[in-house]
Amino acid sequence: MLDEQRLKELHDSYIAAGGGRPLEELLAGKDKLKGAEAQRLRGAFSSYGLHPADCKQPLLVVELMTGRVQGLRSQFEVLEKEHGKEGAVRLWYDYRDSPNKLPIIDILQIGAWTDMSRSNSSSVPPKYFEALRYLLDLGISPEGTDVAGYTALQHSLTGTPLLCDLKWSQMLLDASADPIAAINHRNRYGGTSAHEIMQSFRRPGEQELRVKCLTFLLEHGANVDIPDGDGSTARRSAIHTAAFSNLIAAADIKQSTENACAFCRRGGVAGKGKEKDGAVPKEDGEIRASLRCGRCKSRMYCSAVCQKLDWAAHKKGCVPAPAATSS
Ligand SMILES: [Zn+2]
Ligand SMILES: [Zn+2]
Repeated sequence: MLDEQRLKELHDSYIAAGGGRPLEELLAGKDKLKGAEAQRLRGAFSSYGLHPADCKQPLLVVELMTGRVQGLRSQFEVLEKEHGKEGAVRLWYDYRDSPNKLPIIDILQIGAWTDMSRSNSSSVPPKYFEALRYLLDLGISPEGTDVAGYTALQHSLTGTPLLCDLKWSQMLLDASADPIAAINHRNRYGGTSAHEIMQSFRRPGEQELRVKCLTFLLEHGANVDIPDGDGSTARRSAIHTAAFSNLIAAADIKQSTENACAFCRRGGVAGKGKEKDGAVPKEDGEIRASLRCGRCKSRMYCSAVCQKLDWAAHKKGCVPAPAATSS
């Protein structure tokens, strides 16, 4: 007889055997996933196609998906009257819709992607740029995450859906509080964008686009040695694809010859940077590595953010430097 107690036992023994929690529990959580649980959520996420009829606010979703800035403006004004500007921005930032719990910027992005697929275009139509500009100017951060822990930037560069319009990705990146953290953001599977590019399903003809996206990521400080929940890294996954491993090899060479930041690779000769936080640009606008690990005194960083992001990987190899002898 399957009473509640028996069901609970089955549930627990299934989890104990490595089968993981059921989808319902994964959808309700925000924790990092690996193994069977990661596969289960990935499957559910990619099988869902966004439809306004499944949404809590179909009218808002339609305005977003069709990129109608005028429609968005009038919906925002209604909200603003009741909650004030700050309250309305907060409500839109916190808002999630569809079973995949998409932030509004992600819904706009899916609309742009749908439009592009329909018209077989490789760039985002202007009206979506206008709508994105409107939302960002209101102060809505693009860093909200969906049920799988992805940001809009991560989706735009990795393939769920793969937008691969770098002007769009750049706009999302520029609006992020910390670009290096945004480029290296990890979803609930622990995967960074550089890693997801290698993992996600590849449609024929997409290879070239993925190479373009990985180039963008590496140029903007993507680290390919961050392990995901199952311990795999972008560098390891790249060995199956020559185009990816060549890009990573080129980035490695650049890093070793320019004495660049140990985390994000952004280059430059170590200089006399004064700012403790944030990268220090040279006169020409380039970034240089000017912070040194205080413990081993050998690893260089362009910013405190990079130093912090690198610590999990670096601590294993960080050997304290012998104390300097004073004369
Ligand atoms: Zn850096
Ligand atoms: Zn160190």
